Amino acid sequence: MKKIEASSLYLKGHLGLFQCPVCQKPFEKVEGHSVSCAANHQFDLSKKGTLHLLLKGGQNEYDKDMLSSRKNLADTGFFHPLLDAVYAHIESPEHATVLDVGCGEGSHLHYLSQKGLNGTKVGFDISKDAIQLAAGHFFEDAFWCVADLAHSPFGKEAFDVILNIFSPSHYQEFERVLKPGGRVIKVVPSPRYLIELREQLYATDATKKEYDNQQVVDRFLQSYPDAVKEEVAYTVKLTKESYRWLMEMTPLSWNADPEVKEKAMANPLPSVTVAVTLLISEKK
Ligand SMILES: [Zn+2]
Repeated sequence: MKKIEASSLYLKGHLGLFQCPVCQKPFEKVEGHSVSCAANHQFDLSKKGTLHLLLKGGQNEYDKDMLSSRKNLADTGFFHPLLDAVYAHIESPEHATVLDVGCGEGSHLHYLSQKGLNGTKVGFDISKDAIQLAAGHFFEDAFWCVADLAHSPFGKEAFDVILNIFSPSHYQEFERVLKPGGRVIKVVPSPRYLIELREQLYATDATKKEYDNQQVVDRFLQSYPDAVKEEVAYTVKLTKESYRWLMEMTPLSWNADPEVKEKAMANPLPSVTVAVTLLISEKK
């Protein structure tokens, strides 16, 4: 079956996961390769089987090179230990309905699927390029769409789990789309995340050398006072190649002094620390 046909069938079976991002009413029908609400706001599937639910054009902060570097790095297992920790907090992974917020090029959902996350999965990102890559590489793992939580196309109380891995949050919206008893699992970098790279690139710039996630953590705990907090940290060995992918992927390197960056590229780090804070909360 063609991807666009498979996605059309999927939409027919899972219409309740979505809503019209224009008027927030439910989608009522899937006809051909389009979905529409009662007011006839219509959204079309792409040939790759992805659904574009953005009202305006997406931003292009992440270009294609950055996205493929992230995929290459993910393929080496760079994120696996932190994803293993995320997986451990998902109840009934074989059945859960999961929304991956800011899924990027889809590597995280792909790995979690291989581990056994085999229910209904939707990955979305504001970047069209990211979603095209995700559907290109990991079509089978999820339904992929371009969307923005500010004009949310997701249905009320439709999801068991929200994954919020290194991506922005919208707590009010999380609350609306989660089923009662559903969980938000948020992953934020902790102060030692990529500390070696930070020291290499910003040795003389104290404001950039140090990073503090306290504000983000506090904001989460304000929204969810009963949240559970878990620290995960590990060291990843790097090759010359994976170091280059890391440099291309991380926003840390984008604003570094070009001379310092050039020097760093000639002296790849042998290893780097991945340290993150997991925040888990349950909707009452
Ligand atoms: Zn509508």
